[in-house]
Amino acid sequence: MSIADSTSEGEGSRPRAVDHKGRSWALWDQSPLIIAYILLVEAAVAVSTVVLARHTALHTHDLVLVAVLVGLGIAQAEIGRQTERLRRQLTDTAHINLTSVWTFAGVLLLPPVLVAVLVTILYVQLSVRSWYQLREITTYRAVMNTCFVIITCYLARGALELLGIHDIQNVAGRGAFGMFALGLALVVYFLTGALLVVPTIWARTRSVSDVVGTRSENFLELATLCLAAIVALLLVALPALSIAILPPLMILHRGLLNRELESTAAIDQKTGVLNAATWHYVARRELTQATGHADAALSILMIDLDHFKRVNDAHGHLNGDEVLKAVATCITGELRENDSVGRFGGEEFIVLLPRAREAEACKIAERIRYAVSIMNTRAVHAEGSVPITGLSVSIGVGTFPVCGTTVNALMHSADTALYRAKNDGRNRVVAFSGIT
Ligand code: GH3
Ligand code: MG
Ligand code: MG
Repeated sequence: MSIADSTSEGEGSRPRAVDHKGRSWALWDQSPLIIAYILLVEAAVAVSTVVLARHTALHTHDLVLVAVLVGLGIAQAEIGRQTERLRRQLTDTAHINLTSVWTFAGVLLLPPVLVAVLVTILYVQLSVRSWYQLREITTYRAVMNTCFVIITCYLARGALELLGIHDIQNVAGRGAFGMFALGLALVVYFLTGALLVVPTIWARTRSVSDVVGTRSENFLELATLCLAAIVALLLVALPALSIAILPPLMILHRGLLNRELESTAAIDQKTGVLNAATWHYVARRELTQATGHADAALSILMIDLDHFKRVNDAHGHLNGDEVLKAVATCITGELRENDSVGRFGGEEFIVLLPRAREAEACKIAERIRYAVSIMNTRAVHAEGSVPITGLSVSIGVGTFPVCGTTVNALMHSADTALYRAKNDGRNRVVAFSGIT
C-alpha cells in the first residue's frame, strides 16, 4: 500500500500516500463515498495551501532549495527510468519511485507552501514521463496522488512545528529533543501516507495485504525517509555533496529490479508456486541436510488434477488456468511453514515435506485431497460466471529413505504411487511403500 496507481501484487516502493493499486479507473466509477473522500482531500489541500500561502514570506534561499530538490528529484527519476521500464516488463507491480527522498527533505527544509510546489512539480514530471507512458494513470488520479502527498507533507511539518522545530537546523541544534522531533515527523509522514490511501485501495481490492503493503515496501519507504533526512542535512551543511545521494538511490532502485529478477526466475508465473527447477534445488538442499541425520525423514507428494482436460473443455483454457492457480493456493494453504510446493508440469504439483515420515505425509496429502474436493471456484463465461465444483486430485507419496535416497528416486516413487492412485479410481492418496 502507499501514496499513487497500478496493480495488486505491489512490491517495491512507491511513496506512501500513492495509491498504485488497480489499473486505470475513472473517478465517477467509484462509490459516492470514495468520490466524496477524494474530493474532500483535494479541497483540504486547496484550502490549507491558500491559508498557508497567506502566512508565508518567500526567501530567495528557499526558492534555491526548491530548485535544487526539483533538479535532484527529476535527475533521479530520469536516471531510474530504464531500470523501471525493465522492471515493468518483468512484473505487474507498481511504478517505483523514490520521491519521498525529496518530498520529506522538503518538509525538513522548506515552508509548507514550497513543499506543495515541490511535490506538484515532481508528480507532474512523474505523470508525464512515467505514468503517462504506462497508460495506467488518469489525470484525476495523478491529481489525487499529488494531493495525498501534499497533505502527508503538511501533517509531518505540523508535527515538527508543534514541537517548536522549524527546520533541519533546529533539529541539529536541539540535540536529543531535535532527534525526537525528527523521528516523530518521520513517523507521521509514514503513517499518514499509509492511512490516506486505505479507503481507495480497500474500495478496489478488499485485500488487507494490499492495504498493509509488503514488508519490503514498508522498509523501503522507511529507508527513503531516512535518506531524506540525510539529504536535508547535506543541503544545509554541504550543499554540493547532496548530489552524492543519487548513486545510492540508483543502487537501491537496481536492487529492487534484481529482486524482481530473482523472483521471476524462481516462481511459476501462472500459479505463483516455485517452478520445477527451483523446487528441485530446494529439495536437493533439504535432502542433503536430511541425509546427515540417522533418524532423518523427508517426504515428497506428487499431485495431479483428475480429469483436468474436462475443465478446459467445459470452461476454456483461461478458466482452466484460474483453476490451476486456485488449486496451487489451496495446496499451499494446507502445508506447514517449511514445506515447499512447485509446479512440476501442466496440471501437476510436487510438494516437499521436510522431516515428514510417511504417516505424517499421508495425513497432509489427505488434507490437501479433501481441501481440493470441497473447493469452490467460478468460471467466467460471456453469459456470466458459473461455479466449478467436483474437482479432485490424486496424490502419490514417496518417503526418504525407504522409497529412495535421491530426489529423482523419491520423485519416481511418488510418481509410481500417483499412477496407482489414478488406476485405483482417482481422488485418493497412495503411498509408494503400500504398493511394493
Ligand atoms: P487424469 O490426470 O485424471 O488422467 O486426466 P487429465 O485430463 O487431468 O490428464 P491428461 O494428462 O490427459 O490431461 C492434462 C490436461 O491438462 C491436458 C491439458 O490441456 C491440461 N493442461 C496442462 N497444462 C495446462 C495449463 O497450463 N493450463 C490449462 N488450462 N490446462 C493445462
Ligand atoms: Mg491430470
Ligand atoms: Mg498430468
